[in-house]
Amino acid sequence: MSVKRGMALVAAGLVMTPVAFGFGIVMLVAAVEDEDEPGNIPVPVAGSLRIGKGGVPAQYAQLIMDAAAACDQGLPPSILAAQIKQESGFNPTAQSKDANGNPIASGISQFIPGTWATEGIDGNKDGNKDVWDPEDAIPSQGSMMCKLLKTAKKHPGYRGSPVELALAGYNAGWGRVDEYRGVPPARFAQGQTYNYVKIIMATSASLAAPADDAASGDWAAPVGGPASTPYRQPGSSWSSGYHTGIDFVVPVGTSVRAVGPGTVVTAGPGGAYGNQVVIRHKDGKYSQYAHLSSVAVRAGQNLQGPTRIGLSGNTGNSTGPHLHFEIRNSPAYGSDISPIPYLRRQGVRI
Ligand SMILES: [Zn+2]
Repeated sequence: MSVKRGMALVAAGLVMTPVAFGFGIVMLVAAVEDEDEPGNIPVPVAGSLRIGKGGVPAQYAQLIMDAAAACDQGLPPSILAAQIKQESGFNPTAQSKDANGNPIASGISQFIPGTWATEGIDGNKDGNKDVWDPEDAIPSQGSMMCKLLKTAKKHPGYRGSPVELALAGYNAGWGRVDEYRGVPPARFAQGQTYNYVKIIMATSASLAAPADDAASGDWAAPVGGPASTPYRQPGSSWSSGYHTGIDFVVPVGTSVRAVGPGTVVTAGPGGAYGNQVVIRHKDGKYSQYAHLSSVAVRAGQNLQGPTRIGLSGNTGNSTGPHLHFEIRNSPAYGSDISPIPYLRRQGVRI
């Protein structure tokens, strides 16, 4: 974004009078350079990903969220997502080659053989450390970025935020970051590392979901951000043979709201659903919220509208942190209806 913005501003400068022209260019370029200096770009916070068209492909969202959650250094998932977009365009078969046609970097996270040998991990524990398998490559990328982030935090005097330093280390090797005491400048490697960091910082902002974007009157989405696994998706991991609700990929501890006014009928451990809440609404439909890490309401409680009912988690039969959400005709499993059209009928923009 910053690179494109710089070009737009220079283009705008072209309509100036010849006298102002040169001066204007200098001023504009100086301002853009200053704003884009490492350390001046806001670091995105941990949060949910923008999933789907223009965002993160749904099939990789959970892997990216998990890889970020596995890091205890506060690694934003949108940074990992932006890296993958930059490295391979989310293509797990991507293969870069040198001028002689020899392969260099492989897979969705573009590991070179030497780095893969030391940093690659068997993320899905299938006994095979495979650079072509996103279930291995993305956790490996997350673990390598996590180590770099930890190292970066030990150098507060270096030029750039810890996330920017980690990105520079991923691209050029940490030795170069030490050498330049920060993100290597534009003169290093034709600006490759400098631009890599800038582009990823800008892209990450566009791949992060807004924190809270769906409230509407008395009804709201249960969490910010779009849903991933769709309703009625077939699959053997569900006892009914299909997905009875929709999933929102959110980190453990994300605030979960009741979608509308109603009465809590169930609150607490619910077997495969982990900690769950079921709410009866006035129209006789029920909403269900599953795999919560904590529950903040009790059965019998009346809720006036979108109210916090607990925190998202990974409890019960769950493959990673997410909120599983259903709309039902009864409080019982198996009476599900399609949740998104229901919420839209209540005026929720989702
Ligand atoms: Zn689900």
